[in-house]
Amino acid sequence: MFRSDQHDSNCMQRVANRSLITDHRAPLLLGAHMSIGGGVHTAIERACSIGCTAMQIFVKNNMQWFARPLTGQEIAAFLKHTQRRELLSVFAHANYLINLAATNPQFHANSLRALTEELIRADQLKLPFLVLHPGAHLGAGEEVGLERIVESIDRVFSARPKIKTRIALETTAGQGSCMGNKFEHLAYVISSVREPERLCVCLDTAHIFAAGYDIGSEPSIRKTFREFDRVIGRDRLVAIHVNDSKAVRGSRVDRHEHIGKGKIGLDAFRFIMGNRRFSKIPKVLETPKAKDLREDVRNLSMLRALAADQ
Ligand SMILES: [Zn+2]
Ligand SMILES: [Zn+2]
Repeated sequence: MFRSDQHDSNCMQRVANRSLITDHRAPLLLGAHMSIGGGVHTAIERACSIGCTAMQIFVKNNMQWFARPLTGQEIAAFLKHTQRRELLSVFAHANYLINLAATNPQFHANSLRALTEELIRADQLKLPFLVLHPGAHLGAGEEVGLERIVESIDRVFSARPKIKTRIALETTAGQGSCMGNKFEHLAYVISSVREPERLCVCLDTAHIFAAGYDIGSEPSIRKTFREFDRVIGRDRLVAIHVNDSKAVRGSRVDRHEHIGKGKIGLDAFRFIMGNRRFSKIPKVLETPKAKDLREDVRNLSMLRALAADQ
């Protein structure tokens, strides 16, 4: 599996090779979302086995509302893992069931509880932020939905003042009644909550493209990021999901595709991989893959080649 000595030494060799190639530049913060099947610490081994320097994880089973708390042993296995320092950036993604704008009271209560518990877990694992889809208004309308999200975040944060892990609101494709497909939605939430310093933003290339933002050529990408800076603010950006899109621009359909095989084209990825402003922003893949991570290896090598091709 992922723990053999042979595997570890291969991993170390790859890391050594990479640092030889890039020692004159800041290391790329690049990786993928990794499964925590078998325990949170196993994600570290998976990521290192393919030379990741960044990684995103769920902090519990993604299909369930709740889970038993992490044990001290599980937390230590993660924090003290010998390969942990090879990953320069590790962060979490929240459960997809959570909807802070839910109209059903039980569903909303579950969402608040699940978000709180995931923040606690992420904090125990010393992860800087938890990526969260803002929510879906389910027919109540954007204004009501956004207000509900603001109130929910205020409640979660005020009940847990000591948690250091921030929430990174993610840009979405706007599928169904999901909000977050306009930069203005995220800006509204950030400017309306009582503790905006506990919020940041994760941008997903497939989502903003499906939401309608033009990232098909370098001038259009620059324009889209200028808009991001103007509406949300450059400093809020803490992570990028580098996904190509199966769905066309403006379709509001959320379907991830391998880099270069979707509708976005390579210009956006070349720009993100090579532009200095993103050098300290972790970039992770969320593209389909088999257990052996073969697809991740291919996508990562493509992105590394684009980074070198400047
Ligand atoms: Zn997401
Ligand atoms: Zn998506």
